[in-house]
Amino acid sequence: MKIDLHVHTTASDGTESPAHIVELALEAGLAAVAVTDHDTADGCREALEAGERLGLEVVPGIELSTKFHASVHILGYYIDAQSPHLLPVLEWMVNDRNQRNRRIAELMASDGLPVSYDEMQRRFSGVIGRPHFAELLVEFGLAEDVSDAFRRFMNRGEKYYIGRSFLPLDRSIEIILLAGGVPVLAHPFQYRMDDAELRELIEYCIGKGLRGMECRYSGYRPDQVAYLEKLAAEYGLIRTGGSDFHGTSKPHIRIGSGTGALDVPCRYLEELKTAAGR
Ligand code: AMP
Ligand code: ZN
Ligand code: FE
Ligand code: FE
Repeated sequence: MKIDLHVHTTASDGTESPAHIVELALEAGLAAVAVTDHDTADGCREALEAGERLGLEVVPGIELSTKFHASVHILGYYIDAQSPHLLPVLEWMVNDRNQRNRRIAELMASDGLPVSYDEMQRRFSGVIGRPHFAELLVEFGLAEDVSDAFRRFMNRGEKYYIGRSFLPLDRSIEIILLAGGVPVLAHPFQYRMDDAELRELIEYCIGKGLRGMECRYSGYRPDQVAYLEKLAAEYGLIRTGGSDFHGTSKPHIRIGSGTGALDVPCRYLEELKTAAGR
């Protein structure tokens, strides 16, 4: 049996509802699934309820976007979604995103595209970001798919790119801990760091309270996984793993199996639970 500890839902930029994620995980034969939406825990309750109803173990989580030298993502597992340490920070992030979304919508509207901030809010239920605008551009026939829309319009330097504020890395680890969660460094190879830079990042994070590292991830080769697992052991971090499933907007990634070979064993969840004191 295997598990998937990194999945997005409609609470952020995934295309499947939290309850449907649980069904998909069951269909894929998984023993457990974690919901880790960008900067929100709003999908966790629905997923936990579906898990109880359908008999699948669901882990509540979050994926915080932060800035170090590069943009770094920190996963937080078993956070208390109602924590007074967490809620105001998430609210600040959503407000910042909303200001940015308003500006992106205005840019698109000034080019004659039928986009408005209010319509975006009506149409998408969760945390809105660049992927949602990318989806609209695909619908308008201006891009072939979401990645193409990013390349043409949404990446830094392109026409509809607007920056946003980021939570400092140390603060993100701190609030996950204050919310009773286990902080984990997400997808370490996505930051294009060499060994020395990655070690610097890990050591900095450990100084702030990091407990784990995502060692298995969609597309990571066996030699890359072995390298990350060796680093985790060296630094005394628990290992986690997941697909980063987003639904139909990233159709090459499947829940549980990623791009094909992903295999996250159940013992990783046991280690995570021990770290969470469960
Ligand atoms: P935002 O936080 O609104 O700036 O959007 C960042 C999110 O967009 C990331 O977390 C990814 O899920 C998604 N994303 C970034 N680059 C791409 C890309 N080239 N293709 C598809 N999705 C992307
Ligand atoms: Zn995403
Ligand atoms: Fe991420
Ligand atoms: Fe993710």
